[in-house]
Amino acid sequence: MRGLIMDKPLMISSLIEHANRVSGDREIVTRSVEGPIHRYTYADAYVRVRKLANALSELGMKLGDRIATLAWNTNRHFECYYAVSGMGGITHTLNPRLSPEQLIYIINHAEDSYIFVDVNLLPLVEAVSSKLRSLKGIIVLTDENNLPESKLDNLICYEKLIDDHSMVSDWPEFDENTASSLCYTSGTTGNPKGALYSHRSTILHAYASALPDVMNLSEKEVVLPVVPMFHVNAWGIPYGATMTGAKLVFPGPKLDGASVHELLVEEEVTMAAGVPTVWLGLLNHWKANKTKVPSLKRTIIGGTAVPQSMIETFQEKFNVDVRHAWGMTEMSPLGTISIPKEKIVKEGKQKRYRSQIKQGRPVFGVEIKIVNDQNETLPNDGKAFGELLVRGPWITSGYFKNDDSDSHNNDGWFATGDVCTIDPEGYMEITDRAKDVIKSGGEWISSIDLENQAMGHPDVMLAAVIGVPHPKWDERPILIVVPTEGKTPNLESINEFLSDKVAKWWLPDDLILVEDLPLGPTGKVLKTKLRKEFGKHALPE
Ligand code: AMP
Repeated sequence: MRGLIMDKPLMISSLIEHANRVSGDREIVTRSVEGPIHRYTYADAYVRVRKLANALSELGMKLGDRIATLAWNTNRHFECYYAVSGMGGITHTLNPRLSPEQLIYIINHAEDSYIFVDVNLLPLVEAVSSKLRSLKGIIVLTDENNLPESKLDNLICYEKLIDDHSMVSDWPEFDENTASSLCYTSGTTGNPKGALYSHRSTILHAYASALPDVMNLSEKEVVLPVVPMFHVNAWGIPYGATMTGAKLVFPGPKLDGASVHELLVEEEVTMAAGVPTVWLGLLNHWKANKTKVPSLKRTIIGGTAVPQSMIETFQEKFNVDVRHAWGMTEMSPLGTISIPKEKIVKEGKQKRYRSQIKQGRPVFGVEIKIVNDQNETLPNDGKAFGELLVRGPWITSGYFKNDDSDSHNNDGWFATGDVCTIDPEGYMEITDRAKDVIKSGGEWISSIDLENQAMGHPDVMLAAVIGVPHPKWDERPILIVVPTEGKTPNLESINEFLSDKVAKWWLPDDLILVEDLPLGPTGKVLKTKLRKEFGKHALPE
């Protein structure tokens, strides 16, 4: 017997409709690409979204057409999200940090028909435009006064496009499983692969993200997503905030510590989200200027492991709670989040921090398990480690236009490529990416754990660990460090510091000091590049 419940599809357009009706006066604030702060409300955004929706339909956008964006976090990018998906198009976000070859591959693979581009990113499109096969037009996200000279003849001015159109009369309604947005994984090997989200998955993910024990989104909150809208939809914040009427603050192109700090203070931000490198910049700014942000209650940090030193500094020096999150492009991205249970908090600070550096417990909707090489499920005892498999209603079931994905071929589970443990309380902890783990004497060394501990040393600002070949042990770890300004750490002092924190045989065999670590397009340290440069490093006798 079926329940007697209306069969109302979950639609992205309903989020902006709802925000207009019940949170219309809540603000959306942007540091614009042109410079000045732009301020308007959900009600203002709603009118512009509906005008843009009409414009897109007049440009010929049909159900399922891919429309790309190459843009920073701004209100205009937010409008594109809703207008494109609302009309049944697919918002395809492009990462400006990708190489020209990757951009060409992705745009052609997705067969994007239009591209929305920020003024300062237009040169990236100009450089590759002759190789783009499907593109009909380029919509520059600015007004006529700021429209740059360009060698391209198919430029459309965004503000004029909106001004020239009236609001679309009604949103189309279609199956909630219809594709809504597309994001390619950065892929360190092989070509990037497309994760294709649906209206249903996006709305369910937004509900989950708003839960108190996830991002705690509500009308009371002021949310600043530093995490880019071109990377897994800024972790879904543009949807969750709209669902709950949280005030949104967009940082535009300026992501340095001073600029982010200014917005946090001026807009009285309560929650901000981003990858660890962004927070490193902010913490340095706070320390150097002896300042803090009284309104800021919590940060959501994920994308790579968060070092304990960062969690402690946020908590103890600046009274900001860190919620350590783990997810993937293929998971929309929310998977797990680490918030210590009450009983762990009561066990004292060290237990609490120990729990916070784990990647956390799954959000309702996501199931996780670990398996060995024979695909047998391993116990959740906090000791056994194996590959993490996941499933749930916002996890991809395949890649866009790509039928041979081994990762999706596991009896309905997605194989993440992360190796981890799960403890009896349900907390998952990543040991490593399967390809980064160091195999020494038949045992595994977790590069993530070693990096995390090394970053607690006062002379170490950033650390990365890779394995190098060893005649006896197969591989041994070496530590690559960006020192704290003015410091020159040595291997002896770091190993002494690490000696009561990790097993003795984990201690790195050598130390290399560098000025910078190579970061990939989503802010993760590029281990492939480090291995290329230092993988044959000769170890001391
Ligand atoms: P992406 O799809 O580019 O967001 O990358 C997803 C991958 O980033 C995951 O499979 C993990 O290897 C890594 N990752 C994401 N969040 C974390 C985290 N909190 N700790 C450690 N690794 C993480």
